[in-house]
Amino acid sequence: MFMEIKVFKKFPLFSAQSYLLIKNDKALLIDCGYLSDELLEALNRVTLCGLIITHGHFDHIRGIDNLKKLYPDLKIFYNQTNTDFLSNPINNCSRFANQNDVIINAKTISLSEGVHSVGEFDFEVIYTPGHTKDSMSILFPKENVIFTGDFLFPRTVGRYDLPTSSISDLEKSLKKIKPYINDELTIYCGHDQATNGKRICHENRYIIDIFNKTF
Ligand SMILES: [Zn+2]
Repeated sequence: MFMEIKVFKKFPLFSAQSYLLIKNDKALLIDCGYLSDELLEALNRVTLCGLIITHGHFDHIRGIDNLKKLYPDLKIFYNQTNTDFLSNPINNCSRFANQNDVIINAKTISLSEGVHSVGEFDFEVIYTPGHTKDSMSILFPKENVIFTGDFLFPRTVGRYDLPTSSISDLEKSLKKIKPYINDELTIYCGHDQATNGKRICHENRYIIDIFNKTF
């Protein structure tokens, strides 16, 4: 079944992109940094099955409170670690970004690594820490698309100088993602255009470096 992917990025506040995946009028939302009118309109036309948070930075979660007002029973899927990001303004970086403290108390459902199904959506969760401890990537194998949050961008990687960042974790995550990258894989990230597996292997020096290393 065809999966439509809508990208929401023209947000008035500093917020990450949201992705609304739609199959047969059922939808899955990836990240909710801001609940824009445009996103609301799109949500009104579908049945929302859940929200997946790629990691707990404020610009990926700030819209959750407003979303929960509209969908009180919304399932929120997340890589729960033993570090609090959602309700900790230091770890979610809102305190460093000249923003009001972001404190999200919504309950989340822990997403383990591996294969999951939510509604009509089949996906694989790959933990990709480095930018943050809780970062994960979501692969849709049938559609050959992956959502990498702030772990991987077309030409670079996410910052690794923030609370819980780790350069050695990042290197391990890059090695881990290698077998999933094929030429046609579409890669959607938190703050930039989409790219594909072929391009990222030529344009991203972190990927080039890690792929050229023999381990
Ligand atoms: Zn981030």
